[in-house]
Amino acid sequence: MKVADTLAMANTQYYLDKEAQYGAHNYHPLPVVLTKGSGVHVWDIENNRYYDFLSGYSAINHGHCHPKIMEIFLEQAQRLTLTSRAFHNDALGEYAEYITRFFGYDKVLPMNTGAEAVETALKLARRWGYEVKGVAPGEALIVTCSNNFHGRTISIISFSTDEPSKRNFGPYTPGLLTIPFNDLEALKAVLQNKNVVGFLVEPIQGEAGIVVPDEGYISNAAQLCKDANVLFIADEIQTGLARTGKMLACEHEGVHPDMLILGKALSGGTMPVSAVLTSKEVMDTIKPGDHGSTYGGNPLACRVAIAALQALIDENMAENAAIQGEYFRAGLKAINSPYVSIVRGKGLFNAIVIAHEEEDAAWQLCMIMKENGLLAKPTHGDRIRFAPPLTISRTQIEDAVYIIEKSLNKL
Ligand SMILES: *Cc1c(COP(=O)(O)O)cnc(C)c1O
Repeated sequence: MKVADTLAMANTQYYLDKEAQYGAHNYHPLPVVLTKGSGVHVWDIENNRYYDFLSGYSAINHGHCHPKIMEIFLEQAQRLTLTSRAFHNDALGEYAEYITRFFGYDKVLPMNTGAEAVETALKLARRWGYEVKGVAPGEALIVTCSNNFHGRTISIISFSTDEPSKRNFGPYTPGLLTIPFNDLEALKAVLQNKNVVGFLVEPIQGEAGIVVPDEGYISNAAQLCKDANVLFIADEIQTGLARTGKMLACEHEGVHPDMLILGKALSGGTMPVSAVLTSKEVMDTIKPGDHGSTYGGNPLACRVAIAALQALIDENMAENAAIQGEYFRAGLKAINSPYVSIVRGKGLFNAIVIAHEEEDAAWQLCMIMKENGLLAKPTHGDRIRFAPPLTISRTQIEDAVYIIEKSLNKL
């Protein structure tokens, strides 16, 4: 390698320029170029080490390059990666049995990205509405909440209330209603309409800035849906898989959703793996040829997902998230900075809200934290999400709180 190339490889700007020139500008990343990850840490090309407090939007719950998941991943990658669903493979059946027993459902439909799983759930709800509930053709309605985030397809952004996500992407998909989040009266009112087939909700709103609803919201919402013969559909793509201190966030209120949507950490951060879990009654409304995905249910995804779910149990990650999360929030509250107006969250799914006269203060704070060795990203301007891998230790939490405090003092 030439000296010039070696220099270029250690030069952050070189990579930023390449992305800016040749890539779509659909993200606004922090100016750090990562090249390696292990556990709760990532390293940039200049060999600086950081705590990863975003964890790939909670896709990295297990930590980077978890050894048990990597072992299975590499083994299966060298054996068989993709068969399509035109043929059977020897991993899908085993995975389907494993994940349905794991979460207590009759059946699973495997997809890849989160958005695809949400789309699948919407299709299933409509099918069930027409074929089981008896809604008149074309009349089915699905209820969602304001400030939701469920993905980026045209149907999903049709019920987004975030202006940039929607602007000039219309016309939008009809049949979708939006009510305020954490508002049982609004739900009760909308459920009067007999054409409602499903209520899609995040148990804690993630992209909105870790908005935790009142205690009892999820259990009461599920009960209202049950009484109205409407499917309660939980999008646990970000809240699920031990993130909030339970395997599913719905478990905090003893709720077993009619449909459960998983993604992100389901593959331990290795590849896109998502799933919809539900009853036989709902799932059997889809017949061969009605829905599918070339990569959905591929043997590599199936093996990796089993390994990822098993690791959550074997390493007590939900319990650790609950314990370290409690400790982390206590640490954040003790910082007592005039710029932190709110500390909120559950388990290791947390956020602070920054109150500062400068509009980009949250971004500036993230830049200072980066200099101090911790990576996090603002959401919706003034909110910063703190969601480290669930393997984080008490000492590492203490270290992180110290970095956050030191950074706030520099703001
Ligand atoms: C990330 C996310 C999605 C979309 O997942 P993709 O894999 O990015 O399509 C959907 N719902 C929630 C709650 C999410 O956090």
